[in-house]
Amino acid sequence: MDLAPPPERGIFCNRTLNLRAIEAVGYDMDYTLVHYRVEAWERHAYEHLRRRLASLGWPVEGLRFDPELMVRGLIIDLELGNIVKANRFGYVKLASHGTRTLSFEEVRRVYALTPTDLATGRFAFINTFFSLSEICMYAQLVDLLDEGEISGISSYAELAQRVRQTLDEAHWEGQMKAEILADPERFIELDPDTPLALLDQLRAGKKLMLITNSEWGYARSIMEYAFNPFLPKGMRWRDLFELVVVSARKPSFFSAQNPIFRLVDEQGWWEPVPGPLPQSGIYLGGNAATIEQYLGLSGDRILYVGDHIFVDVNVSKKLLQWRTALVLRELEHEVRESSAASKQQRELDERMSLKEALERELCQLRLLEQRRRHRYGPVIDLDEAEIASRSAELRGEIQQLDERISPLARRVGQLCSERWGPLMRTGRDKSHLARQVERYADIYTSRVSNFLFRSPFVYFQSPRGSLPHDPLSG
Ligand SMILES: [Mg+2]
Repeated sequence: MDLAPPPERGIFCNRTLNLRAIEAVGYDMDYTLVHYRVEAWERHAYEHLRRRLASLGWPVEGLRFDPELMVRGLIIDLELGNIVKANRFGYVKLASHGTRTLSFEEVRRVYALTPTDLATGRFAFINTFFSLSEICMYAQLVDLLDEGEISGISSYAELAQRVRQTLDEAHWEGQMKAEILADPERFIELDPDTPLALLDQLRAGKKLMLITNSEWGYARSIMEYAFNPFLPKGMRWRDLFELVVVSARKPSFFSAQNPIFRLVDEQGWWEPVPGPLPQSGIYLGGNAATIEQYLGLSGDRILYVGDHIFVDVNVSKKLLQWRTALVLRELEHEVRESSAASKQQRELDERMSLKEALERELCQLRLLEQRRRHRYGPVIDLDEAEIASRSAELRGEIQQLDERISPLARRVGQLCSERWGPLMRTGRDKSHLARQVERYADIYTSRVSNFLFRSPFVYFQSPRGSLPHDPLSG
């Protein structure tokens, strides 16, 4: 394998992490070790939901799943029926009401004084690919509710609650999973390099764990399909793992004292484990404290790898100080798109700094004019006409620059998603998601097999980072 990965397959470091010092690595399964074909899965899930709503008499016959409508990292404003994208400070910069994109003015009017606060019940974060179908349906139903097509619902929050309730009642997840198992090729995107990356870590002396919320029957079948064909002869997926924990109930797995059960029979016979774990094997439920005790390790020796910024990364770090790695598949697309647009980005940056210089001069002239008019401050050798003429000249230049800046900014702002732009940016700033990643994920990467490029002995060094007061380079 090529030692230098393509840029989109890199492992990016927020906080320095010495992989050599890590003695145990835990993995989430869905969208971490195993990647699903997002559009196929979500379209399928959406149809389940749509049929269920139709059977309850909702006017959803004409609705179709739109994969372009929603992306991860957006926030739902349940009070207003809006879907919004916020910057790192929580301020909303882009929004749609239902499926209708709000104008810049509308966004400003509604959100200038209301930063998103995830601690309140008003805002909900879209953390996972599994939510895209539900949110797409929600936005479309907001449109129908506004048009008076849905009766018996009095608020956007109630609408969201009814959609969720319908999903829960429909037991669609069990049905969906049965359909996935019947036709895995259609829904799972295999990565033959992932088993090898884990095998490298195992042979380097690390204890591996699979900690998933999926139940045993499903996890077993999926792991057999995704791992067994790519392991050395005679080796099975479960030989990789010291511990397999299914139905883990993350995030409460990291904080509560949920009881733990050991698999005693392949068909799903579980017996309770009252004390410490007796041996390696397959477990159900349980909690992180029991795992730490079994491993005899403190949090800084354990790395947990998952795709859910809250469930996998935020909670494990905050509560237990586990080291964390976030898997963000969208990064591959995002890095490729950004590099394809780097020429435009450079031109945009240059023109923006030119505009900034012109605006600075314009402000300065305005101040000089103010001093001249009120007769104070140092004497200057410009008269009123000269100030006015230079100011007019500057305004003209700024306007010309704006004509070039607008299309460039639009192009760069629509990378990856025409509606929402790149996942990790909101305008020129970091996105809300990017801020969460920075805070809670020590490292992040697009897929687990990227570890192959870096070996189990790598020292991830965080970059020095830039600050607004740093001297300009170049
Ligand atoms: Mg997952």
